[in-house]
Amino acid sequence: MKTALITGGSRGIGRVTAMRLLADGWSVAFTYSQSKAAADEFVASDRQRLAAFEADVRDAGRAKEVVAEVVERFGSVDGLVNNAGIRRDALLYNMTDEQWDEVVDTSLGGAVAMTRAVLPVMMKQQRGAMVNVASISGLHGVVGQTNYSAAKGGLVAMTRSLAREVARSGIRVNCIAPGLVETDMVAGLDGEVKREMIRAIPMRRAVKPDEVAAGIAFLLSDDASAITGQVLCIDGGLSA
Ligand code: NAP
Repeated sequence: MKTALITGGSRGIGRVTAMRLLADGWSVAFTYSQSKAAADEFVASDRQRLAAFEADVRDAGRAKEVVAEVVERFGSVDGLVNNAGIRRDALLYNMTDEQWDEVVDTSLGGAVAMTRAVLPVMMKQQRGAMVNVASISGLHGVVGQTNYSAAKGGLVAMTRSLAREVARSGIRVNCIAPGLVETDMVAGLDGEVKREMIRAIPMRRAVKPDEVAAGIAFLLSDDASAITGQVLCIDGGLSA
């Protein structure tokens, strides 16, 4: 049985992806930072194939410990989903250093830390697939998201370079770039702002978390065995 490790799996896209991978036959380890109750409740649904680890993605030392514990528990790490991310929107001239650092350190730094912790395992296995959860904001400009766009654009660029570095070790690295997805992350958006965003989407609707999970599951699967270094936009046509 293959094992996936997902950062930020207790809620949102990470949790729905974990559910999809379980349905596809994977074992799933996931991390959480704040949402312990949600993580415990989720693990209780399948104690055999699910495991949760408390870990702030910004802590590179903890990432190494988590990977070692996942290997001890499940025997391998075949898939990695760098999903944990946050928004702290502000116009750049109003943005605090903390808002910049928090977003870049979590969404880009966290993915780098977990990737570096998992790489030795996958190199040893000579097998593995990674999916980095970027965003349309990493490909196109979005007012108020210079920090988020920089982090997600960095993730896209890192994906392409790493894909080339590790292709001969049997490891694939891809990105997904969701548009507007109905999760807690966008729950606080002003109603009119959200309606305006939806009017700009050719499909005239937000993306559902399970539609994002389907893209991640595909890129992790052997069906994507020749796909690496790519960005799959899951956005209702926003970037078309
Ligand atoms: P969400 O519902 O707000 O969930 C965010 C997840 O990230 C939670 O599981 C959270 O875990 C985790 N997380 C945040 N900070 C963390 C930290 N320092 N260490 C460890 N985990 C941390 O958001 P979502 O919509 O599912 O977003 C998931 C990913 O999709 C993010 O990378 C986001 O940027 C990306 N994305 C979302 C959208 C959208 O419209 N929703 C669009 C494009 C891309 P805890 O609760 O335990 O802290």
